[in-house]
Amino acid sequence: MTPSAAADMDAGRDAGMDPAPLDVLVVGAGPVGLAAAIEAALAGLRVAIIDPRPDPVDKACGEGLMPGAVAALARLGVNPPGMDVRGISYIAGSHRAYAPFPAGPGRGVRRTVLHKALVARAEQTGVRRVLGRVRVLTEDAGGVRAEGTGCSERARWVVAADGLHSPLRRHLGLSRPPGGLGPARPARYGLRRHYRIAPWTDLVEVHWGQDAECYLTPVAPDLVGVALLGPSGPSYAERLAGFPEVAARLRLAAPVGPVLGAGPLRQPVAARRRGRVLLVGDAAGYVDAITGEGIAVGLACARALVDCLRQGAPHDYDAAWHVASRRYRLLTETLLAATAAAPLRRALVPACALAPRVFRAVVGELAR
Ligand SMILES: Cc1cc2nc3c(=O)[nH]c(=O)nc-3n(C[C@H](O)[C@H](O)[C@H](O)COP(=O)(O)OP(=O)(O)OC[C@H]3O[C@@H](n4cnc5c(N)ncnc54)[C@H](O)[C@@H]3O)c2cc1C
Repeated sequence: MTPSAAADMDAGRDAGMDPAPLDVLVVGAGPVGLAAAIEAALAGLRVAIIDPRPDPVDKACGEGLMPGAVAALARLGVNPPGMDVRGISYIAGSHRAYAPFPAGPGRGVRRTVLHKALVARAEQTGVRRVLGRVRVLTEDAGGVRAEGTGCSERARWVVAADGLHSPLRRHLGLSRPPGGLGPARPARYGLRRHYRIAPWTDLVEVHWGQDAECYLTPVAPDLVGVALLGPSGPSYAERLAGFPEVAARLRLAAPVGPVLGAGPLRQPVAARRRGRVLLVGDAAGYVDAITGEGIAVGLACARALVDCLRQGAPHDYDAAWHVASRRYRLLTETLLAATAAAPLRRALVPACALAPRVFRAVVGELAR
């Protein structure tokens, strides 16, 4: 541990507690958990990360890293290969609106590729990896014991980065019903698949359908990810058929790998900390994938979390999380509300095309 990190940790240390062998145990090796682990290791803390899934972990995701996410990963020493994306294009029938990312490209990156890059960096920075599933957390004065299948670890702090449906969040009583305090709208789900085809654009294309969106992200010179977001019900093929222009493009392209899904996407959370356990990433609460920002926001919150621990101020984390995720929550809620009613939804892309400056300003906000 660096002297400054040791001093910071000592400042936050409770008097008379048993020393725990780890400073931080991260539960969940998704992109945000791995980033939190790297962030903590770079701060000089003793860190382990635990996940039951063997490498490389895959997940339903649009796989578009916003420019802010690319920069946050570079800051951690992670530079995953992928396809540069220059901006976002909204498409509905013959209407099109395009806005570039103002300060450099984002990147389309396969989740498995991102996972490998993060794991390599985590190992390089001294993060210990454990294959196991945490089921029970028991807190004492000096730390938390995490026990489950294949694991029994004790740490001063546990970071729960265990995803959208976070078993640890439920275990701690911090989950709220998905309908919770949010507006009464149908729950939304995501499905994604890849197609073997050379990308025809260096933009993330968002096609707006009647009640669903289709996201196309180039992730390799011969691979495009196709993610579909909308209410539950239709299968992937049925949903895709609702986007005839996309379906026509993919007609001769071979599907690659299985369809993966996730949802309901909206996951309200009562608080982001209980005692020595702090929630981050999707586990800390999620609104929707409509703006494609989950990883960028998770990385920003992981940084805020580790800053709070370093400063011996875990009680400040919930407020820091609200600050780090405010822009995402505001933009996402606004876009969901603005596209909930059919007439407004139909007007969205024509309006973006008619007001390119406004659209560019919004995309500029997403890119940060
Ligand atoms: C359809 C769709 C499209 C999306 N598109 C984009 C996009 O284009 N760009 C973007 O930035 N974001 C996008 N997102 C959001 C993004 O995928 C998430 O925000 C991101 O994966 C969150 O990462 P995470 O590390 O918090 O959680 P996850 O990636 O879900 O990782 C959680 C990990 O926790 C592990 N775990 C679970 N329970 C336990 C346990 N008990 N013990 C140990 N480990 C456990 C799991 O095995 C998993 O590896 C999209 C999401 C969806 C659904």
